[in-house]
Order: sequence, then structure tokens, then C-alpha cells
Amino acid sequence: MAPVSPLAAALGCKCPRCGRGALFKGFLTVADRCTACDLDLSEVDSGDGPAVFLIFILGFTVVPGLVVGLALLFLRTYNLGQQTPAETQKHCRYFSRFFHLIISFLFPR
Ligand SMILES: [Zn+2]
Repeated sequence: MAPVSPLAAALGCKCPRCGRGALFKGFLTVADRCTACDLDLSEVDSGDGPAVFLIFILGFTVVPGLVVGLALLFLRTYNLGQQTPAETQKHCRYFSRFFHLIISFLFPR
């Protein structure tokens, strides 16, 4: 059996010994055994590690991206800077209420 590059096996989510069998049986669940070489993978169960890793990645990319995207959408939708001050004030009030709504969902009392 030819040696398997650890990097190639990791990036391809393949068995570290044979490089052919699937490492995961679900999205984040490590398979019990390799389907190709029958390597016992149950001892390398990482528990909640992958889920926490995914939560950190999504938390630091998707949430700020969503907030910035919504802010840009708001600015584009209401053409801020090309309105009367009264219109701008009204739309900023809507925006403020929207963010209060989001904050109240994230941090309920
Ligand atoms: Zn294998």
C-alpha cells in the first residue's frame, strides 16, 4: 500500500491509512470503520470538536457578513444622502427598530 499524504487525506476527508475510504459517515460524524481498509476509526472520535469549529467559522464570517450586507442593502434601498433630513430620520428610525428586534432575539430578557 502506497503511503498516503496526511494533507491530501485530510482535505479529501479520506481514511488516513489507505486514503480511499470515507472518514465521515455524516456531515460531522466520524465513521466507526474505514469502508476500504477496515481501519478502526472509533478511537479518534472528536466529540463536539467539529461542531464547535464550524460554529466559530460561521459565527465570525456569516453573522458579520449578514449585518454588513443588511446595512448596505438598507443604505441602497433608501438612498441615504439623497433624501430630505426628515426622510433620512424616518428611515434611520426603521433601521434602528430593525436592529433592536435582532438584538432582542439574540439576547432575550
Ligand atoms: Zn482506510
